[in-house]
Amino acid sequence: MIVNERSVPLPLLQREALLQRIIKSHSRHKDIEKELINWKTGFAGEKNVDYYLSYLPDEPYRIINDLRLKNKNTFQIDSYILSQMFGLVLEIRNITGTLFFDKNTNGVIRTYKDIEEGIPNPLTQAKRHKRQLMNWKMMHKITSMPIEYLVVFSRNSTILKTNPGNEHIFEHMIYAENLEEKVAQIAAKYQSPILKGKAINKLTDYLLSERIPSYPEILKTYSIPKSDILPGVQCPNCKAIPMIRVSAAWYCSWCRSYSKDAHIQTVRDYFLLMNAPLTVKEFQEFLLIEQRGVAKNLPHSLNLPSTGKKRTTQYFLHPDCILSPLKENARGKRGINE
Ligand SMILES: [Zn+2]
Repeated sequence: MIVNERSVPLPLLQREALLQRIIKSHSRHKDIEKELINWKTGFAGEKNVDYYLSYLPDEPYRIINDLRLKNKNTFQIDSYILSQMFGLVLEIRNITGTLFFDKNTNGVIRTYKDIEEGIPNPLTQAKRHKRQLMNWKMMHKITSMPIEYLVVFSRNSTILKTNPGNEHIFEHMIYAENLEEKVAQIAAKYQSPILKGKAINKLTDYLLSERIPSYPEILKTYSIPKSDILPGVQCPNCKAIPMIRVSAAWYCSWCRSYSKDAHIQTVRDYFLLMNAPLTVKEFQEFLLIEQRGVAKNLPHSLNLPSTGKKRTTQYFLHPDCILSPLKENARGKRGINE
């Protein structure tokens, strides 16, 4: 049973928002564009693996996606499959070309279109995540159980090679389409249940509740000052910035279209990029609103969680909520601590 759907990674959304709000000739534009492609490729690979994960029988498996936990450092497991007898860490990769796993250096060389480059070894990463999860479970006094790991390549066109005599490493690597069979093979090794009765559901709920949301400070990542970010409401039709507030709507003077709710995406952009609460003053400045009255009422109508009153009101958006589209008056008013 898949217990949580995989959501679009926040770093991907942040890069999308950032590219919309810096000028094309910005010194970091190309880097961000390149990294956005990597994030999109990775996410597409994960979604492809989700398709094969959906074929696993509901019982006895619990599948937790994007399991992000914290020991000393935070670590994120792409998918964690839990059964009564064992846990299985999946490290998902979407890579084009040929990968050579070098026994002598433990490095991985990727060859694509005759260009060779060293890439992080996904097996090393999968093993590290397994260790980190075992330590985390120990710290949280959770009954120990065997944890297995697998690197899953989302496409069959990734060619895998290694030195002669080192083929045993492929025990821990599969193509996505073989996932169901491989999980059954692993399951056959274990006979006695460790998580009896409702214990598997309890542990699943506990893991879900302990997840740490990721909310990177994207401007810091690229050393981009706030002053480089273009303010203004973006036109949903032609993507131009800014639209103008005209009688309870937004007007785009480039494509001459109107929008009632174009400010919603702009508020989302603010939270994606600024990592800070939104005050009426900032709302007014970021959306380029002339009348303070409009700047006061609009964020209020979005029902964002808030603290303070009147002039001191600060609006927040929990990273998890950035992922789901904001709707006017669709959300109940919630305090920041809820
Ligand atoms: Zn427009």
